[in-house]
Amino acid sequence: MQNFEKNASPDTYFGCNVFNENVMRSCLPKKVFEAVMATRRMGTPLPREAADSVANAMKEWAVANGCTHFTHWFQPMTGVTAEKHDAFLTPIAGGVILDFSGKELIKGESDASSFPSGGLRATFEARGYTAWDPTSDAFIKDRTLCIPTGFVSYTGEVLDKKTPLLRSMEAVSRSTVRMLRMFGNDKVQRVMTNVGPEQEYFLIDKASYDAREDLILTGRTLFGSMPPKGEEMDDHYFGNLTQRVSDFMRELDVELWKLGIYAKTEHNEVAPAQHELAPVYTTSNIAADHNQLTMELMKKIALKHGLVCLLHEKPFAGISGSGKHNNWSLSTDDGQNLLDPGDTPQDNMQFLLVLCAFLKGVKEYAPLLRLSSASAGNDCRLGGNEAPPTVISVFIGDDLQRVLDAIESGKPLEGFGKERFCLGVDAMPQFRKDTTDRNRTSPMAFTGNKFEFRMLGSADSISCFNFVMNTIFSHEITAFCDELEKADDFNTALHELLVRTIRETKDIIFNGNGYGDEWFAECKRRGLPNYPSTVESLMQYDRPEFVAIFEEMNVLSRAEITSRKEILLDNYSKTVCIEARTMLDIARKKILPVCISYTKQLCDAVNAKNQLSPALNVSTAVEDALVSEISDLTAGLFEAIEDLREQIAMAGREHTVIEKATAYRKTVVPAMERLRTTADALELLIPQDQWPFPPYSEILYNI
Ligand code: ADP
Ligand code: MG
Repeated sequence: MQNFEKNASPDTYFGCNVFNENVMRSCLPKKVFEAVMATRRMGTPLPREAADSVANAMKEWAVANGCTHFTHWFQPMTGVTAEKHDAFLTPIAGGVILDFSGKELIKGESDASSFPSGGLRATFEARGYTAWDPTSDAFIKDRTLCIPTGFVSYTGEVLDKKTPLLRSMEAVSRSTVRMLRMFGNDKVQRVMTNVGPEQEYFLIDKASYDAREDLILTGRTLFGSMPPKGEEMDDHYFGNLTQRVSDFMRELDVELWKLGIYAKTEHNEVAPAQHELAPVYTTSNIAADHNQLTMELMKKIALKHGLVCLLHEKPFAGISGSGKHNNWSLSTDDGQNLLDPGDTPQDNMQFLLVLCAFLKGVKEYAPLLRLSSASAGNDCRLGGNEAPPTVISVFIGDDLQRVLDAIESGKPLEGFGKERFCLGVDAMPQFRKDTTDRNRTSPMAFTGNKFEFRMLGSADSISCFNFVMNTIFSHEITAFCDELEKADDFNTALHELLVRTIRETKDIIFNGNGYGDEWFAECKRRGLPNYPSTVESLMQYDRPEFVAIFEEMNVLSRAEITSRKEILLDNYSKTVCIEARTMLDIARKKILPVCISYTKQLCDAVNAKNQLSPALNVSTAVEDALVSEISDLTAGLFEAIEDLREQIAMAGREHTVIEKATAYRKTVVPAMERLRTTADALELLIPQDQWPFPPYSEILYNI
């Protein structure tokens, strides 16, 4: 870290690597600046001449800040970002000039066939385009000007994670402005969706990482028995930061702030070596871009501190995994948070309508929300005792529940109002109690003025959940508007609609403990859908009623949905296949030989003892017992290896993407579990210095 940043106040360099509104105001002609701002605020297209002017100003600014290259920065379906760097150089007679045109800013070409495209690649040309997203600021990374872009095929099908999110934000704005008009609001022009994503991650020592093939190849440990100390003492959550972790966080903050990312809250998480970073929330699209950059920088900066940042959802079995809480809300361009209940929610019809649209959407389209968080990594976490169950429900808290109950029953709400907290010490301030208590177990919790979706995995892009949520919400609000606009008496119709929706959505609300067994029984009774793994949940993607709302809201076409389903299922199969092959490699080449050689050492010890005079009466009972136990387990290990090899081969012979994914899920994953159980039992019996990789206790407590 440079010294000036160490000592400088963050406001002096915040956003210094971003071509943001301030920079544009100072370097663009007034008319062009206003055109860009209109594009950002209203989504109106930018005229071509204005784009030329912006491109030139961007280049001047980037070059002045040390850049030599530019890239369209996009988010293909691989889940990570992609970039292809071009120098600004253009040859002229006798030399070069630095050049960057509006055309290069607006559009880039890329070979779409090298990125996942599902069925689209087979049907259409390989050509793909990246298209500038003027709503997200260009920024500098590694002396390269990065321009956020969407990615589409030659025929216009979406091949990325950003474009559907942008489309869904348009849908929310359109439908919600329409709703606000019914309440007499003529001013609001635009409604934004906002996200604050809380990012969990692990930091481990680079040396431990380098000694583990599983971490290097798959991002998680595929073997490893529990350390003697896990999370039972609750001493890591909010605990003191070690110096190395603190240095990492400070440097990360500085780099994020330079990129205009509002990194705000940092703390140790529940598991040893686990941490969290939460930014201040912002518009969904920008939050999604920022979250990608945050993950990238976490990995890079960790390395500078001799650490490795693990973003996998479940790096260590038996230890809490990592998620990404997605705080979702709606705001208007006149500053209202549409999820703010206010002091008297029972009279706040606009809030109640928004809430009902949300609840109805979640109830009707729960499988879509479930699949928006589906991945092989997240399968290891969801439904465990540290993460939300795989069944979607909503927590609204007691206060709101009473409001809904009162509206439904038509009885007045008594004694409602925010309580004040008194800590019993006069010198300490009194403060108001939140409308909802914290419920850490619900997949979707109302937290005062926003909904927190807790199912997302730590490595996931937030785009999918948000475009799904936005689509569902817009669909419901549109249906409400269709009904209410036709009504003769708005207030009566509104009241009837609320009562009906409250009745219809009861089953999706659950305010209790989502980790308990009773809830699972209750889910069954209520008939709530449960898709325990990625494969079952992704299969739902192209159900006719789901395709209908994506098409209605202009977010995804049927072809785009089918392609996404294929890509994600294929990605699942490949992930499991790589993990399974890595397990085989480690088990055969590293674990098995160690077991055999240690057995031999024990046998040698028995033989040596047997050479001693019988008169000494030396017992070989310990060695005998160990040899016997280890031999049995080693035989089991060999069997499990052969079994896994067979299952991988069989899954590989399946034909369709769906058959393959199903085989990996149904046969390969259980075979991996069997192999792991045996190997982990052996780890407990073999001397530490002979075991081929570092144990959990060393990895988790060594930073
Ligand atoms: P907790 O751990 O209690 O969930 P944090 O402070 O870790 O709380 O994170 C809360 C997150 O919610 C932050 O990213 C914050 O910016 C975000 N947030 C707060 N208000 C809103 C809102 N209206 N819309 C979206 N996100 C919000
Ligand atoms: Mg949270």
